[in-house]
Amino acid sequence: MNYDFKPIFKIKPALQTLVKSLKKRAHGGIKPKEGWTARLTPEQHRILREKGTELPFTGKLLHEKRKGTFVCAACGTQLFSSGAKFDSGTGWPSFDAPANTKNILLCEDFSHGLRRTEVLCRKCGGHLGHLFDDGPTASGKRYCINSCALGFKKR
Ligand SMILES: [Zn+2]
Repeated sequence: MNYDFKPIFKIKPALQTLVKSLKKRAHGGIKPKEGWTARLTPEQHRILREKGTELPFTGKLLHEKRKGTFVCAACGTQLFSSGAKFDSGTGWPSFDAPANTKNILLCEDFSHGLRRTEVLCRKCGGHLGHLFDDGPTASGKRYCINSCALGFKKR
């Protein structure tokens, strides 16, 4: 048999570049050592990086009613505007639309024996919460987001 390994060597540099860029994206462009763990509280780390869920009615931003923007607690990306926030009664901050669809990522989530749509920060990959189709406004959407995964910037 005649094996030709040349293509593999040609692909290698391209693969390395891809892996490098994926790693960079996964960490929000921040080197892990100086990044997440240092800047996030243990609870924020549990939610954003380990896909945890905060206890309902415990989040600092649950009753935030000022005008402004809700950002990713890990990387500061703008996620939701105060105009999209509503009281869902669930105990988690709820929004009927993202500030910019390009800033979030939706993924199918089959954990806990449920089929749900996971909401992630597109820039750093942080877990934010879940999206449901039972919203009370015209969009019909309910972005159920952990308060802990968010920061707030007053307008
Ligand atoms: Zn982020």
